Amino acid sequence: MTDTAKLRAWTEIDYQAIGHNVEEVRKLVGNTKILGILKADAYGHGAIECAHELAKAGVDFFAVACLSEAQELRKAGFDQPILILGATPPAAFDELLAGDFIQTLVSLEYAQKLSDYAKACNTKAKGHVKVDTGMNRVGIVYQEGARRYDQIRAVYELDGLDVQGIFSHFPVSDDLGFDSREFTRNQVRLFKEVLERLKEDDIDPGVRHIQNSYGILNYKDLGMDYCRPGLLYMGVTSDDQVPIASTPDFIPILSLKTKVAMVKTVPDGATVSYGRHYHCQGARRIASLMIGYADGLPRLISNQNLMISIRGHKVPLVGNICMDQCMADVTGFDDIEEGDIATIVGVDGQNVMTIDSISRAAHTINNETLSTLSRRLSRVAKD
Ligand SMILES: *Cc1c(COP(=O)(O)O)cnc(C)c1O
Repeated sequence: MTDTAKLRAWTEIDYQAIGHNVEEVRKLVGNTKILGILKADAYGHGAIECAHELAKAGVDFFAVACLSEAQELRKAGFDQPILILGATPPAAFDELLAGDFIQTLVSLEYAQKLSDYAKACNTKAKGHVKVDTGMNRVGIVYQEGARRYDQIRAVYELDGLDVQGIFSHFPVSDDLGFDSREFTRNQVRLFKEVLERLKEDDIDPGVRHIQNSYGILNYKDLGMDYCRPGLLYMGVTSDDQVPIASTPDFIPILSLKTKVAMVKTVPDGATVSYGRHYHCQGARRIASLMIGYADGLPRLISNQNLMISIRGHKVPLVGNICMDQCMADVTGFDDIEEGDIATIVGVDGQNVMTIDSISRAAHTINNETLSTLSRRLSRVAKD
């Protein structure tokens, strides 16, 4: 393991557990293959390192949010197909072709532009058609009352494009409530209807995919060619208090750690940190930690007694989180001292500290908490 002696705040990533998590996904989805989502630096886990582990686990297809993320993977030597999930500005179409990337075709107009560009270069651009079955973000609308099938077919017929796949996306696959389940099942019906119509028109749709992580957990095997897990191979869901329809055995791969800079005794009646929101009742031992909101520890978790673990003791964060530091009340644990490692996320002795509790305190989901961990954090691979 990298020596952490010189570090002030870091994530420790258990890359080897990715293979296990991929197997857990495979148990759910039958013969559906995995398209590994690596956007936002694999939600802060390191896209290159995660891509290596996914490839080792047999994942043969990657997706990212944007061109620069796709280029980073190519530069690192990955020659797998890479799908770009968002729109690439037409001014950068040259780089799309140079990297041999697969562009999400977000509308017929957009697909026409890309096709024209590729034709002018005497080549074909690769793409997957996005079908909007209810997310109402990008994609050609195919919903009740607005079945734009002609536009979908027209994309397949553009001669500057090599359309290799088709996909849609779920907005409420995380919710097991009746309405949300109906909505999601209807999306699957609409998507299958598109596939059926393409078949009738003798058009090969290419690879078909629709499930994100909750789509996998709650709808399991939908008979598609690929599924698109991000969070799941990282071993977490968006929120561990949201019930799911399966019981996979995932290993969270990320730990978040920092160190105690100093411990001081603060007298009765004194306050801790900006805003003076934590009032000491009796003398308190306060440990200052080497991490703050500029590292990605959300300021919103301030003053909620969020627990962290030091030397196997659960202790609360107190007072406002500062940009580069924060404080814990370690009263009663006299063994805690300067230099100790503080586990904010991860296992410390008997204590298991989850990213979920941070996300909840910050009124958000793990997707955001993870993907906004800052560049200033060092990253260490667990051995
Ligand atoms: C981010 C993203 C995913 C992965 O989402 P998870 O919830 O992390 O599995 C899948 N599909 C699309 C289109 C996405 O943008």
